[in-house]
Amino acid sequence: MEYRRLGRNGPLVSRLCFGSLVMGPLQAGLSMKEGAGLILEAAALGVNFIDTAEIYETYGYIKEALRLAGETGEMKSWPTAGGPPGSFGDGLVIASKCYAYTWEGMEDSLRKAQREIGRDVIDIFMLHEQESELTLRGHRPAIERLIKAKEDGDVRFIGISTHCVNAVLAATSMPEIDVIHPLINKRGLGIKDGSLEEMLAAVKAAHDAGKGIYAMKALGGGHLAREAEEALGFVRDLDFVDSIAVGVRSVEELRMNVAILQGTEVPSSLKEKIRILDKHVHVEEWCQGCGKCVEACPQQALTLVSDETPPVRVEHSKCVLCGYCAARCPDFFIKVY
Ligand code: SF4
Ligand code: SF4
Repeated sequence: MEYRRLGRNGPLVSRLCFGSLVMGPLQAGLSMKEGAGLILEAAALGVNFIDTAEIYETYGYIKEALRLAGETGEMKSWPTAGGPPGSFGDGLVIASKCYAYTWEGMEDSLRKAQREIGRDVIDIFMLHEQESELTLRGHRPAIERLIKAKEDGDVRFIGISTHCVNAVLAATSMPEIDVIHPLINKRGLGIKDGSLEEMLAAVKAAHDAGKGIYAMKALGGGHLAREAEEALGFVRDLDFVDSIAVGVRSVEELRMNVAILQGTEVPSSLKEKIRILDKHVHVEEWCQGCGKCVEACPQQALTLVSDETPPVRVEHSKCVLCGYCAARCPDFFIKVY
């Protein structure tokens, strides 16, 4: 596994970042044992970087993997990450994010992550789904809380995640932002405010300015899964991308991603084992039509249609399978699988 520094002063992270959204309750719904086992399998393959979020509900899997690793010593095979000597302990780098925009909201989210992951320090904590300078300004109290958390040693690095070129541009000029987690894929699927070329130029400038970059949605949320080698290869070959978060549901998918990112040929026996399922958003017919999922969709892929059953229509061509709609339904009537 190749390791790179995440930005000018960030930790040393594996080129593949374990994206935990897909295995969690919003998507594949792996059991605690399966999910923790998958994380440990990734560790055995050299992955030392995990991406999570408050909304993904996957903190428990990480905590369980940490517990099991403590028992078996598997993490000792992970590299010691960067920063001051010994500062990363077992070498695992955890990035999380939340939607808080107030000081108190960020405080709650941070404490929840510490409690549910079972760690005093969250390596990277980010503002989830930023769109522009305006949204960053609106989140100023939450950023101030993160700056305090960094001073206190509760957080090592502050970041943003985004589907927007304008948010990358705005974060680049903010010295308090260390890490940017932008949407990048070879077709530009899911970029909300610009072209692929504009996104690549903005991300390169951010990296040149010293920001750590780890990409998301390299497989277009599943739309590029059938051309995974090409799609992951495209992002792998971007020098200004330090690491790439890819969500996985199975050991086979994990091994395939590791092979692609290492630039080695994916064994045909492995390809045969992977049944790449066509994932879609499904709305149950007993949906109440409350509209919460429609509001939550960053891609405007959902529409309320009160005279249809179910009363939510999905435009699959716009959907990037992020699962944010599923997280907002109080009754679990909308799911990605
Ligand atoms: S429909 Fe749901 S999964 Fe698809 S883009 Fe919108 S929020 Fe994400
Ligand atoms: S949030 Fe749930 S109940 Fe409300 S419209 Fe969406 S699927 Fe239906």
